[in-house]
Amino acid sequence: MKKSIIGLSRNQIGELLLSLGVSEKNLKMRISQIFHSIYFKGSKKIDEITTISKKLREDLNQSYSLERNKIKKEVVSKDKTRKWLLSLQDDKEIETVFIPEKKRGSLCISSQVGCTLNCSFCHTGTMPLVRNLTAFEIMSQVLLAKDELDDWEGNSDIRKLTNIILMGMGEPLYNYEEVSKAIKIIIDSEGINISKRKVTLSTAGIVPMIERLGEELDVGLAISLHAVNDDIRNTLVPINRKYPIKELIAALKKYTEAKSSRKITFEYVMLKNVNDSISDARELCRIISGIPAKINLIPFNPWPLSIYECSDEKKIRAFSEVITRAGYSSPVRKPRGRDIMAACGQLVSQSKRTSRHDQGGINV
Ligand code: SF4
Repeated sequence: MKKSIIGLSRNQIGELLLSLGVSEKNLKMRISQIFHSIYFKGSKKIDEITTISKKLREDLNQSYSLERNKIKKEVVSKDKTRKWLLSLQDDKEIETVFIPEKKRGSLCISSQVGCTLNCSFCHTGTMPLVRNLTAFEIMSQVLLAKDELDDWEGNSDIRKLTNIILMGMGEPLYNYEEVSKAIKIIIDSEGINISKRKVTLSTAGIVPMIERLGEELDVGLAISLHAVNDDIRNTLVPINRKYPIKELIAALKKYTEAKSSRKITFEYVMLKNVNDSISDARELCRIISGIPAKINLIPFNPWPLSIYECSDEKKIRAFSEVITRAGYSSPVRKPRGRDIMAACGQLVSQSKRTSRHDQGGINV
């Protein structure tokens, strides 16, 4: 099977071109031409990269392609949210969700097949972990969405896909190398060309990776907080036993102090009688005090056999008011795609762990 050029970094494409005899002098220009054609125009075949010579296209065609993963199934919610089930080359499956809004469209992408972190309120956490995704598989999700939305340069001046959120299946900071390769292509002005401010990486709080993320990528950071004391967070987000709230908050303070423009988005799922009291809201304001932040309150999205219920609307409103009075923005996130199990925490595919060998690269 031919290898895909999709997901290769600029340096990797450079090495490939050098091996095909492209001169050092022309290298930078050729890389840009290839990037532009794949990520800006949406070329699906090497023959469509008409800015490079016919000879170079023939050489590339010998062993490379612009093949993407395939969409196995699409479901569309009554609120127009679209969920795609993607089939990977080894037959494993992942989900990707597009959420259209009035003035923007967000794509929620996956970084792993399944997830090791087993957050008790999250459907993905019930999947046996299979493996990390490659940069090719991460970028395939973006390209497929743009294909489906017909969102390529030249088709219209108005972009449909404007924001990327790494909040699908998996913990992105446990697949940092591949995720970071993909993000660099997404924010590259000759790549997908989405600004850093419109890319958000959501983590359960892998403390040692937060500083590196800021230094190397500096995209938006969202933290799945969900509880204000270690006892409850240990149950909801078990990685808290390794990186407790105090350590997480200290890392976030350092992260925001390093650059004045940085702001953290805290994700807080509203679970009836678990984490939704007024004293929880006050404690939340206390622990994050000093951190420029916004708090997204997420009404719990149920899934089969989950043990939690969503907090009552009145309680969510009262919780939000406490936070707002403390000076933080605390929007209550409108559930999107609930009817097609595409909402936050509902993603799950049928992939199963097949062998220990398949788990390579997972860092827990
Ligand atoms: S909430 Fe995120 S980190 Fe936790 S199990 Fe689900 S996908 Fe993994």
